[in-house]
Amino acid sequence: MSDCVFCRIVAGEIPCTKVYEDDLCLAFMDIGPLADGHTLLIPKKHYEFLYEMPPEEVAHLAGHLPAMAKAVQEAMGAEGLNVLQNNGRVSGQAVPHVHFHFIPRARGDGLGYRWPAKEADFDVLKEQAEAIRAKLDVEW
Ligand code: 5GP
Ligand code: ZN
Repeated sequence: MSDCVFCRIVAGEIPCTKVYEDDLCLAFMDIGPLADGHTLLIPKKHYEFLYEMPPEEVAHLAGHLPAMAKAVQEAMGAEGLNVLQNNGRVSGQAVPHVHFHFIPRARGDGLGYRWPAKEADFDVLKEQAEAIRAKLDVEW
């Protein structure tokens, strides 16, 4: 995708500050960091959404999550870390190429965290679980 900024980074057309690279994925520093050490991990192949990726390619990418998370957190001396992956503009996705964010966190860092939990209705949860299960291509 020649108009995708991350594809252009993969192609070497736009520079990046590289952290890790192999045949299938690339990790580099976010150019607009939310915190010191904010790092991105992407598949080299263009996919807009996580659910468009073949499971084997997700498995490769996901296999790097623990080491990346530990390295980013420890290198920055952070107390914690958010691993974030947005799908769709409504979720906050600005770059339409799958990416995981690694965002080091510290107490009082001002980033905040909104999690306005609702009270669950178990009948509704059951209906929702059934609807989701019906979309899953698995045997139960
Ligand atoms: P999203 O909002 O799509 O989940 O996150 C996209 C991220 O990509 C943002 O945090 C933004 O700062 C980062 N980003 C956008 N363009 C570039 C770029 O050209 N180089 C780098 N290194 N990061 C970028
Ligand atoms: Zn792309």
